[in-house]
Amino acid sequence: FQIPDRRLRASANGDWLRKKNVGAGHKYSHGSALVIAGGPGTGGAARLAARAALRVGAGLVTLGPTPDALAEHALPPDALMRRPIVDADALTEMLSDQRLRGLCIGPGCGVPRAKALLPAACAADRPMVLDADALTAFAEAPLPLPKDCVLTPHQGEFARVFPDLAKELSRLGGPDKVSVLRLAAQRSKAIVLLKGPDTVIAGPEGQAAIHSDANIPWLATAGAGDVLAGMIAGLLARGLPAFNAACVAVSLHAAAARHHGSGLIADDLPDALPAVLRDWP
Ligand code: AMP
Ligand code: MG
Repeated sequence: FQIPDRRLRASANGDWLRKKNVGAGHKYSHGSALVIAGGPGTGGAARLAARAALRVGAGLVTLGPTPDALAEHALPPDALMRRPIVDADALTEMLSDQRLRGLCIGPGCGVPRAKALLPAACAADRPMVLDADALTAFAEAPLPLPKDCVLTPHQGEFARVFPDLAKELSRLGGPDKVSVLRLAAQRSKAIVLLKGPDTVIAGPEGQAAIHSDANIPWLATAGAGDVLAGMIAGLLARGLPAFNAACVAVSLHAAAARHHGSGLIADDLPDALPAVLRDWP
């Protein structure tokens, strides 16, 4: 990680994660995450995000697909609940459980569903990550985001949410992207994580990090982004501040890909995490 601000270096390198690994607790104290993902035909995205949240150490992950997609989510029942979310009222009711504090909304969600559920998710004011269809929903109908919020666009999604900034970005490389990302973060009042071979992360207070020397060609595989979103939600549930959660997740995601090596498919990423976490510096 290249981090312009020295004070942030430790957070990106995993100090937070180490601290959080110490001490006894129970599943709720280890963090309860909610993954709002998956509809008919997109159960894979939901599974990947939910497993990633679990593998990164959340004590409990609830998966909220559409009711008709429930049968597709053939998952082992360990530490994972499946509670279909019918509509925004059902989500509001679910979020009355204050223990749910790491939300992931978007993977395989469909834009109409993301649009319908996003206001209720934001109103609950919990640490949250918006990915995939939730980013398109946000671009089409902007709304105030919760305080601890991470947006995880790839280049195409970034262009949808910040069309004017994307034009500027296309002319820049590596470290120069930081200034544009800072503008995006200030405008959305969220942590913005622009994915790619040189992932850049910026926050509304000017925090910034660049994942340098990070080209891992075999990570460009379907579902890799869903895993990253789930990992961030899991870390948010564990209590990491949003910027730290974003940095740590990108680092762990890359380490998991390198640990596995080429031939990787997205499902391998969560499963590589225990070994990566064991050797975490
Ligand atoms: P998505 O496009 O949403 O599936 O996300 C793709 C994920 O893979 C993001 O976390 C990217 O940062 C990562 N990724 C894609 N291509 C590369 C690459 N060449 N090197 C490193 N990471 C990559
Ligand atoms: Mg994606």
